[in-house]
Amino acid sequence: MPAYICVTCGVQFAPTSEPPARCPICEDERQYVHPDGQQWTTLDALRASHKNVVKKEEENLYSINTEPKFGIGQRAFLIRTGAGNVLWDCVGLIDDPTIAKIKELGGIDEIAISHPHYYTAMVEWSRAFGGAPIHLHDAERPWVMRPDPCIHFWSGEERALRGGLKLVRTGGHFEGYQILHWPAGAGGKGALMAGDQPQICMDPKQVSFMYSYPNYIPLNATQIRRVVERLDPLPFDRIYGAFFVRGKGIVPTQGKEVVLRSADRYLRAIRG
Ligand SMILES: [Zn+2]
Ligand SMILES: [Zn+2]
Repeated sequence: MPAYICVTCGVQFAPTSEPPARCPICEDERQYVHPDGQQWTTLDALRASHKNVVKKEEENLYSINTEPKFGIGQRAFLIRTGAGNVLWDCVGLIDDPTIAKIKELGGIDEIAISHPHYYTAMVEWSRAFGGAPIHLHDAERPWVMRPDPCIHFWSGEERALRGGLKLVRTGGHFEGYQILHWPAGAGGKGALMAGDQPQICMDPKQVSFMYSYPNYIPLNATQIRRVVERLDPLPFDRIYGAFFVRGKGIVPTQGKEVVLRSADRYLRAIRG
């Protein structure tokens, strides 16, 4: 039985003989159903029409991007540490050339994904790399469309991964939203692997925070303050976002100042 993939958000469902009736992730107010109605594809079809591009971003960091754009259009990252490799976020396509390229870079030992919009084909990625554990926050359990023993739910506010990497739950965009802190990133100054939140703006000196990006639903002041409180203690200079905004999708330096300044501006804007 095929494991159908939602064309709009890229999430893969548990195998079924017929396509699922609906995609709860797209029907949620943070996303949207395909303008022509709910549509499905399969990994085999995707392999015939798309490819992944693996690109070095800095020492020990590689982005993985599907071309042409598929689903939401986010990228994933492979982070190499002295203690093994971590895949941060995920994409819907995994194929033999991608697996070969990543094996050359040392493979994948652990997987962590910021939030359900990027769960995509995470179980396929885990299986391709020996059942690498996938770390998700427990609050997002209802959004897992393909349950699997490789998925490990954690609860609380922080979860250490290998090589000094750390997941921090910030809430906001999703209740169990998690960022990945990479202390060795940005040449040792630290990098924030942010996914969707904070979202890097067209002006890379600004970031933003939304409940829904496609539907422009803001977060409230309490949620914004909580995100900032969780990020502020982390040492980081650079921010890597989920998209190639203006071809890059990074805040190259002074990321902490950018987050604090942007949050302050946001709070002033919604105070009324
Ligand atoms: Zn969907
Ligand atoms: Zn999102």
